[in-house]
Amino acid sequence: MKLARFNGGRIGVVRGDTITDVTEVAGVDPAAWPPIDILKLIKDFSTLRDSIESAKGTNSPITSVKLEAPVPWPNKVIAYPVNYHEHGAEMKSGYTATSRGFFLKSSSSVSGPSDPIVRPELLSREVHHEGELAVIIGKTARHLTREEALDAVFGYSCLLDMTVRGMDVERVMRKSYDTFTPLGPWITTADEVGDPSKLELKLWVNDKLRQQTSTKNMILDVPEMVSMASSVMTLYPGDVIATGTPAGVGSVVDGDVITVEIEKVGRMSIPVVQGKGGYNLALAREETNKK
Ligand code: MN
Repeated sequence: MKLARFNGGRIGVVRGDTITDVTEVAGVDPAAWPPIDILKLIKDFSTLRDSIESAKGTNSPITSVKLEAPVPWPNKVIAYPVNYHEHGAEMKSGYTATSRGFFLKSSSSVSGPSDPIVRPELLSREVHHEGELAVIIGKTARHLTREEALDAVFGYSCLLDMTVRGMDVERVMRKSYDTFTPLGPWITTADEVGDPSKLELKLWVNDKLRQQTSTKNMILDVPEMVSMASSVMTLYPGDVIATGTPAGVGSVVDGDVITVEIEKVGRMSIPVVQGKGGYNLALAREETNKK
């Protein structure tokens, strides 16, 4: 099943080019703040699934609605660095996800498939696209073995791990700007995706193909990443794991459009716009030096 959020927190099931509004059956209040009803829906999905699947809600063309981040307020966004060897080589990183483990991105950096990426006003810094498969956790879980890990996965989405480049500044800050974690266009449930290590991932900037790989090339596979994260922290329904980006990362600027597509999961196109501000004592250093 493809489960989407749209038009101000409504819940929809996507079938082909049509979205069916299942908000009521799903027990979600679109006006609730914080917007965490989707986390409860994910937690209770196995009991709600049949009624959601058969719900006779309003059908609309998918192009007529505004799709939103499927999980707008995850408890956490876990992210793995250097999880493809060729990306490690291009970054000259000298480490991999296996030896380094994961980091966190701000949950508030999550944005939706209809929201532009707002590039901060850091004119001497590059902002890079990192196209990634997102794992959406489905259960409260701790200390999962690799064998148990996939049972805790609810589904998958496309994710962009946007990054201000510069190893001199803390990674968490460089990756946590608002709109730096576009997520969507919906969650495709795990049963519909099957084996997460056999998915083709592609990313274009405008019409130019910049990244292409199969998830079989991951250094840590999905079960290993879920298991590692759960060894440290309790995982909660709706937690997001960014699984690392393949080679081909590069700079984007105002006016670019990033398209990411993952086999069986989905495809979304996100424009980049130049914003105001976003500099600070740590990140304005180069700008200041240039004046
Ligand atoms: Mn990344």
